[in-house]
Amino acid sequence: MAKRTLDDLDLHGKRVLVRVDFNVPLERNEAGRITVTDDTRIRAALPTLKAITRAGGKAILLSHLGRPKGAPDPNYSLSPVAEHLEAVLGERVRFVSNTTGDAVQKTIRSMPDGSILLLENTRFNDGETKNDPDFSARLGQLGDVYVNDAFGSAHRAHASTEGVTHYITPAAMGYLLQREVEYLGRALEAPDHPFIAVLGGAKVSDKIGVITNLLDKVDRVLIGGAMSYTFLKALGHAVGASRVEEDRLDEARAIYEQADGKIQLPQDHVVAEAFSNDAPHHTVEGAIPHGLMGLDIGPATVATYHDALISAQTVVWNGPMGVFEMPNYARGTMAVAEALVEATRRGATTIVGGGDSVAAITQGGFADDVSHVSTGGGAMLEFLEGKTLPGLAALTDR
Ligand code: AMP
Repeated sequence: MAKRTLDDLDLHGKRVLVRVDFNVPLERNEAGRITVTDDTRIRAALPTLKAITRAGGKAILLSHLGRPKGAPDPNYSLSPVAEHLEAVLGERVRFVSNTTGDAVQKTIRSMPDGSILLLENTRFNDGETKNDPDFSARLGQLGDVYVNDAFGSAHRAHASTEGVTHYITPAAMGYLLQREVEYLGRALEAPDHPFIAVLGGAKVSDKIGVITNLLDKVDRVLIGGAMSYTFLKALGHAVGASRVEEDRLDEARAIYEQADGKIQLPQDHVVAEAFSNDAPHHTVEGAIPHGLMGLDIGPATVATYHDALISAQTVVWNGPMGVFEMPNYARGTMAVAEALVEATRRGATTIVGGGDSVAAITQGGFADDVSHVSTGGGAMLEFLEGKTLPGLAALTDR
């Protein structure tokens, strides 16, 4: 069911309660001042915020930050984020060190239309992650309309993402959430073919739901990262000391057989004597010798994956091809990033998500050269699994 969007709302003179994802990395300098070290998520919210203020709405922003234990903790205050947002926007951003209550209501009443208020970390209240109805109702008193622009939190039924929608109608998607849903939704429902999924990372168990849901939609699934070794071992190949999920071998074998040739595994590997960038390492084809561990896909696999990807029309990528944090094992991951850029140039729709893949794309300077960089790791995987995201389902139907 299609959900309302920001453009469907009448914002003028309204109190617009907006759930954003300002869960950004912070750093404390020598003088004790806390600053934002990566403001990608703050910038991603700007189109929605500007649309609200331009339309003459009061933007009242909610976000979580880190994992405080349901009580105020100065290390997780959103106050430095308010300062940062103010600098980025070039206009005043009010901040109140409460999430609900009289001080908040007073500030909202006194602020002019078209201005912005950031409230304190929603997780300073233990009702947030419990999706407590009382806390949700108190949040509900803060706005006339509700906008969710926090895709990264949409898979959690928390008070600020789900509970609050029972107390404010209408509830709509912000531009960022809308963009995520459009890109990922199109990949699931009407992808251009060939459609290739590239999955990597540590664990098969994290990706099995995605593979299962995508199997009848994709033309190929290219596998890399440690999860390849669980597949390879399940199929009877020697994987040496590579990381394997022993309790997932049967599941991996079953899904491989079900995939009927669509799942492609690495044919060669960069293997090392230890889990270290400085360990002696070399490339092997096929079987991995006893005592050695596979830490990246090898050059032949890179070439095969590259050729497949550059002729795809739709690509979804989540998870690194190796231990890309160590430069000696980053080649496979960077090569996939480059292949996505080339595929995009050739007209493909390319979608990248998950912390490590996004980091690789960003490190390579490619963030603007793919179609869509998802702001959700867990949320993207659950969406691709075909699961209902509570924060999305809760929004008002069109
Ligand atoms: P995930 O959180 O599941 O996306 O997994 C990402 C992590 O998997 C990264 O920290 C990688 O270093 C790690 N990883 C990728 N390939 C391998 C591998 N071959 N062996 C061990 N760890 C790996």
